[in-house]
Order: sequence, then structure tokens, then C-alpha cells
Amino acid sequence: MAAVTTSGLVIVLGGINMDLVAITPRFPAAGETVVGDRFLTYPGGKGANQAVASAMMGADTLMVGRVGDDQFGPELMAALRSKGVNVAGVGIVPDVSSGIAVIAIDGSAQNSIIQILGANNACDYEEVEYVSEYLDRASTLMLQLETPIGVSLEAAREARARGKTVILDPGPVRPIPQDFYHCCNVITPNETEAQALVGFPVTDRESAARAAQTLLDRGVELAVVTLGAQGAVYATVRMSGYVAPFPVTAVDSVAAGDAFNGALAAALARGEEAGQAVRIASAAGALAVTKSGAQSSMPSEAEVAALLQSQTGA
Ligand code: ADP
Repeated sequence: MAAVTTSGLVIVLGGINMDLVAITPRFPAAGETVVGDRFLTYPGGKGANQAVASAMMGADTLMVGRVGDDQFGPELMAALRSKGVNVAGVGIVPDVSSGIAVIAIDGSAQNSIIQILGANNACDYEEVEYVSEYLDRASTLMLQLETPIGVSLEAAREARARGKTVILDPGPVRPIPQDFYHCCNVITPNETEAQALVGFPVTDRESAARAAQTLLDRGVELAVVTLGAQGAVYATVRMSGYVAPFPVTAVDSVAAGDAFNGALAAALARGEEAGQAVRIASAAGALAVTKSGAQSSMPSEAEVAALLQSQTGA
């Protein structure tokens, strides 16, 4: 394991959501009411989840984004704070709801989701200025595609110009401008996202390696393609590798990618080299699937270290 030599703030600019989950025996038809079994609320959003994962891995982590002035805003901020995330960069937008996902899960574990962007969509140049203000203390900027892409691109440009590591998790799937690749050091699509970006099926190690190469050709320095229970493939211009999945008992795959990304950001921020950072991230992703929920399933630094050690026998 590389010595921990440097560390810096991880800034996460991204989406903050409340997930409202109804468990029901079956979905209602249009106009129909069905009696469901249970109702749960989970703080979520890719940005917020990744910020929690990064903080849980010991990185000084700042969340930048927006919540609405509804009852969920304070709850979402409290959830982040309780996991050690600095929420000084989270603004409250008047007269708009927080980002919300209304999720129904039926008896066969199928889900249907209505996503309301709400306050996330109100992120604008103010967030870029906020990121800029903190960049001197930061080593890493973590981005996803749940907030307006122009804002993320501007923040990425600024961070890149100041020599920081920019990581883009390109989800949820949408086209990204070529410019964005040049502003990102690291890109971390899952299979579906990789396929949408490169335009050919990404289903296994071999196709993921080709996708990673394509993404390198577009200008990133490290491309990581996550393959769920099949592990993760990564490539830089000098080397490439594969991290096999850590053997775990899967309970709920929600937010595995967020655990992976947050842990990757924290590992790169403290100076781990690419291959080791992807290993650490893979251990975090594996541990996240052993627990249900999103932010509640993010593993601690100690849990990740224990899993890594059990696999190396060190
Ligand atoms: P996403 O949630 O974005 O679709 P993935 O499902 O690809 O992300 O998961 C991210 C990473 O988490 C994988 O590359 C792998 O390292 C780890 N992971 C996910 N599911 C499992 C699993 N069932 N067993 C072991 N590791 C897993």
C-alpha cells in the first residue's frame, strides 16, 4: 500500500435528492389506487452519496449544490453533516422543491421512478464561483451529470486550469461535449454509461477495455469502466488493468457506483496511484452492496481496509 503523503479537499459538485420509496405488491394502472406495504425516505442524489462516501473514507469533503426551501432541504443537509460532509457549499433555493425521486418498488423488485430535478437544476455560475473559491485548498473535483452540464463543465475547466484532479462520473446517461473530456483527468462510467458514450455494446471485460481506450483517445488520463458484479477495468496511456470483484454477499446494489466514485476521489486525493485507487474504490463498491440504502450503505475507511487486507492476506 502506498504511503499516505498528500491530502487535499475533495469538492463534490452535484445532485442532492430525497428518495421517497413506496413498496407495493403491484404498480397501479393509470387512475387506479393500490394499497402499498411500506413507505421509506432515503437521502440520496449521486453528488450527495459520493460526498458521503468520500468523507467516510477519511477525505476532507465539501459539498456544493442546492436544495429547495421545503421540509426536505434541512433533512438532506443534516444527513450530509451527520456523515462528516461540509455543507457550506449547499445553497437553499426559494420557491422550488428539493430534488426528489418518487420510487415505487413492486413485489418482483421492479422499480418505476419519477425524478424531479428541483433545486439541482437551479445550480448556476454561483456554484462555479464557490468551487473556485475553495480550489486552492482542494486536490480533487468530483462531478456527475445530475446538475446542469454547462455549470459542471465550467467548474471542470477552472479546476483543470489550476492543476486539480477532475473526476467525472458520467451518470445519469446523457451526451457530453468533447470539451468535457479535455477538462477531466478521470472518467468512471458504468457499463450502460460507457456504451452510451462510445456507441458500442459494453458487457464484459474485453468490451470495457475497448471502451476505456476510446475514452482515453478522447482526452482523459484515466478511464475506469465499472462492471457491477464483474468488477472494474481501467486504463491510462501507460498501463491498463482489471480489478476482480471482491467476494461479498449482495443485498442491494443501490449506490455501489457512488461508493466506488467517492472512495476513488478520496484515494486519489491522498496520493494513491491509479491501480491502487481503483482497488480501494472496488472494495468500497463491494461493501456498499452488502447493505441496503444509499448513504446508509457507504462503508467506512476501516471496513474498506479490512476487506482489502483479507484479500491480500497482508
Ligand atoms: P453503478 O452503481 O454505477 O452501476 P456498478 O454496479 O458498476 O456501478 O458498481 C461499481 C463497482 O462496485 C463495481 O465496479 C465493483 O467493483 C463493485 N461492485 C458492484 N456490485 C458488486 C458485487 N455484487 N460484488 C462485488 N463488487 C461489486
